[in-house]
Amino acid sequence: MATNPSDRGPAPITGARLTIDLDALAANWALLDRHAAGAETAAAVKADAYGLGIEPVVRALAAAGCRTFFIALPEEGIRVRRVARGATIYVLAGLIEGSADTLVAHDLRPVLNSPAEIEEWAAHRRRGAPTGSAIHIDTGMNRLGLSLHEALELSRDAALLAAVAPSLIMSHLACSDTPGHPQNVRQLALFREIRAEFPGIPASLANSAGVFLGEDYRFDLVRPGIALYGVAPVAGVENPMRTVVTAEARILAIREAEAGETVGYGATETLKRASRLAILSAGYADGYHRSAGSSDQHHGAYVMIRGARAPLAGRVSMDLTAVDVTDLRLAARGDWAELFGRNVPIESVAHAAGTIGYEFLTGLGRRYARTYRGG
Ligand SMILES: *Cc1c(COP(=O)(O)O)cnc(C)c1O
Repeated sequence: MATNPSDRGPAPITGARLTIDLDALAANWALLDRHAAGAETAAAVKADAYGLGIEPVVRALAAAGCRTFFIALPEEGIRVRRVARGATIYVLAGLIEGSADTLVAHDLRPVLNSPAEIEEWAAHRRRGAPTGSAIHIDTGMNRLGLSLHEALELSRDAALLAAVAPSLIMSHLACSDTPGHPQNVRQLALFREIRAEFPGIPASLANSAGVFLGEDYRFDLVRPGIALYGVAPVAGVENPMRTVVTAEARILAIREAEAGETVGYGATETLKRASRLAILSAGYADGYHRSAGSSDQHHGAYVMIRGARAPLAGRVSMDLTAVDVTDLRLAARGDWAELFGRNVPIESVAHAAGTIGYEFLTGLGRRYARTYRGG
């Protein structure tokens, strides 16, 4: 179902476009599933599937064989349920006060994060609510989840445990993208110890990077997110995932500027030579972070135009970004510049902006013309 506006007929005129390759997404899920070996491979599709769109992403993943989805909020769970009727859906935010009826109505499973949530859910289930749940145990994040002491108490309260009847025991790794980090083995040891207190209940620890930490980390179910969307799960090693997202911006104009002139707001970059600048129709309002810009003090990100790199010149504005095309004789008005994608790894742009691929994806603006390919 390729619906590229530029392929047929009058198209909406947009400055930037986003192409999302659902076949690559499905291939990434399959690769993680092979790595997960015996474990079930679920998918984290929170935050609108990391900015790519819950509905097309969930449809493609379900078609690839994914049966379990993790989202942050009930609203997102309802959207997943609409396109994946038979799926198991866990809500990471847990049992937000007053949300139990909504969860039950849409067969969403809360990830129970505290004794208060467990008590409330148990009461609900005693009234006949059939939905499963996960028990989240904190092993080193200090974010959500039961403390080890609270988890131990729960494991010894047979009546409460029977009332809750959890379908999953889970914890979350703080440093999985750094394979040598001592916190990984520490969390693994704690999780092993505590899950032994909940015999017969499936367990889950690994996010994307956790899948690559080795068999010990996989337990019964893995919960990758970012790697599905093509972003390198582990820093510093070759990215085994296929590119899913390509963002491009149109060249609105090419201009000549003299050595000694400055570019953009704040005049932060002074040209060292007579230069040609291409002005792209994308900026921080499109989620192309302002901090990716360039100045006399430090280099910014780069884009790709007709197979050649063009470095950013000056600050990124709200709707516009200037790049230096002095060395690219071919760049012309109307060309598309790749902001990130197959040729410009999203991690490199995110790094130039002082952030991570996760934040770049989830911050993508609404002005892109979106095209979904494959699926
Ligand atoms: C977001 C999230 C995941 C997925 O993490 P990635 O690093 O994107 O693979 C897994 N588990 C929990 C609890 C999460 O919040």
